[in-house]
Amino acid sequence: MNDDFRNEGARRVGQVKEITSLANPIVKDIKALALKKARDETKTFMAEGLKLVIDALELGWTIRTLVYSKAAKGKPLVEKVAARTVASGGLVLEVSEKVMSSITRRDNPQMVAGIFDQRWKALKDVKPVGSETWVALDRVRDPGNLGTIIRTADAAGASGVMLVGDCTDPFSLETVRATMGSLFAVPLVRASAADFLKWKGTCGARLVATHLAGSVDYRTIDYRSKPVILMMGNEQSGLPEDLAGAADALARIPQTGRADSLNLAVATGVMLFEVRRHLLTLDGSR
Ligand code: SAM
Repeated sequence: MNDDFRNEGARRVGQVKEITSLANPIVKDIKALALKKARDETKTFMAEGLKLVIDALELGWTIRTLVYSKAAKGKPLVEKVAARTVASGGLVLEVSEKVMSSITRRDNPQMVAGIFDQRWKALKDVKPVGSETWVALDRVRDPGNLGTIIRTADAAGASGVMLVGDCTDPFSLETVRATMGSLFAVPLVRASAADFLKWKGTCGARLVATHLAGSVDYRTIDYRSKPVILMMGNEQSGLPEDLAGAADALARIPQTGRADSLNLAVATGVMLFEVRRHLLTLDGSR
């Protein structure tokens, strides 16, 4: 935790609203964030847990509302987060356990949750250089897979995750939970397949697409001479021809046993850490 954060806690918490009723309109608005429509309209989302909220603030995310349960009142870190929320113009809600359960849809809820502005990086601003590795996901459907991939991309030092085509929402509660906080550290980009292909033509990176029928063993690819875009296919149908056809290499992870394929998130993890292994062999600094 940085010093800025500690010092801020010394300020007095400003206005705090107490809410005990499930019928309160603010509670209803927060509960509505379970729906993509409400998240899209407000361009916000909810993340649970004090550590996550602190990490998000330290990484410069804008908090709109901080919610904490009565049991968390007076805890120094909660007071600090509350002070920071108020200082940045956000709302602080102290709620009953019942309201917290209802907002987070859990029987044993976290004591703290934050409503944050969504953040997207524009595709045109992605200019991979050096040893950067980006993950591009074709129509990822499963929120758990997406969250796990964002978390893994963070752990493997990837520069960001691109959502290509109609993907599940990275700001859904389920995905945010599965990222375990990495959502706040990994830039996200969204693009249609057509825009992605246009961008790929000019970005100067190497597109390595994974494919069950790939002709190249993933361990033999050169991941070091150019930045890498690692493209992964949809859970059910794999990569469509236009995306596979644009790849500079079609990589296959050799399997044994009876399984047809690896789970998408597992395959992404295997690939990301293979790229990382290659990069580390060249330059031990990462
Ligand atoms: N039925 C789909 C198919 O035929 O492609 C299976 C898709 S698989 C569950 C989801 C994605 O994970 C694939 O599109 C690919 O990107 C990656 N994947 C899974 N296993 C792989 C393997 N052994 N080699 C390369 N990529 C793999």
